[in-house]
Amino acid sequence: MNGMSDEEFQRIYGRPPRRKKKKVKIYWNRIFIALVILVGIIIGFVKLVTFAVDKISGGEKAAPIAASAAENKKKPDTDKKSSEQEKEQKISYSGVELIVCVDPGHGDHDGGTTSKDGQRFEKDDNLAIALKVQQYLEKCGVTVVMTRTDDTFVELGDRCQIANDAKADLMLCLHRNSYGGNISGVEAWVHNSRPAADTLMAEKILEKLEQVGVSANRGVQYGYVGNEDINYYINNDTVMPSCLVEMGFLTDDNDNWLFDENIDEYSVALGDAVIETAIELGIIDGSGKRLTQGQYLSQEKPINNNDSSSAAEAWAEMTEPSVTDDEVYNTQENEYAR
Ligand SMILES: [Zn+2]
Repeated sequence: MNGMSDEEFQRIYGRPPRRKKKKVKIYWNRIFIALVILVGIIIGFVKLVTFAVDKISGGEKAAPIAASAAENKKKPDTDKKSSEQEKEQKISYSGVELIVCVDPGHGDHDGGTTSKDGQRFEKDDNLAIALKVQQYLEKCGVTVVMTRTDDTFVELGDRCQIANDAKADLMLCLHRNSYGGNISGVEAWVHNSRPAADTLMAEKILEKLEQVGVSANRGVQYGYVGNEDINYYINNDTVMPSCLVEMGFLTDDNDNWLFDENIDEYSVALGDAVIETAIELGIIDGSGKRLTQGQYLSQEKPINNNDSSSAAEAWAEMTEPSVTDDEVYNTQENEYAR
């Protein structure tokens, strides 16, 4: 039938073909969707043009454009501020003319304390955070002297010698605590003569660590755990202000979690605390410029600070201390000197 014209049909059937009126189906739903898409495109285009005009005009034309331009102007400002803050978090100081000895406690066969499951060793945590402190301080321009940078054993006397020989201005010893029961938190140990400079550093460190977040600030402690008559070796045989920081309890799961979670922030806090101590002591000014000549000495430590080796000898002549206190909580620490 398709091949037949109307004339042929008329001729054959004697009537014009009855054509089915082609029903035009209107797909309203499709039209609606198309319209929505079209409107969307138009709105998008208008917005794009408005945005472009806005950018070019700099917001000097109509009020609404000016308002959005103001928003645009605000955005780079906040971006700049946040990038500045980020920079601040990264490095608070630069060109700091200071020598700091960082001492990660224990090493090699001397594992220090262990976690309750015996899987985690203090020596590793000490080294991990000490290396980060070193990195941060060096970024600030500080000359950092490490007593160890890997899993090696260094005698306590040698650690002091390294700090003294390097003419370090400040000494930071990093450890972790242990206890059989439920004790947690950070503390900082200072020589039992309570020297002001050393105490200042310990206080600053704890304050900064607390700002990052700790389970407890156990405060500045003097002497040796369980016996204030004796001292940690490194506080005793060093000539510069020093303190031994216990970075939480290895026997406390929450302290371990905090240590792992905040190790970067903690290392920045430790570094900043050391630098700020140096500023307050007048070793450097606020811009990090050196104000004093030669090594800074902890004047109030009861040793002759001018010669650390003779001081160490003097101490060596004294009787060995005895720590028999069963209540001593970090029983695996064994680094005292009278
Ligand atoms: Zn230790």
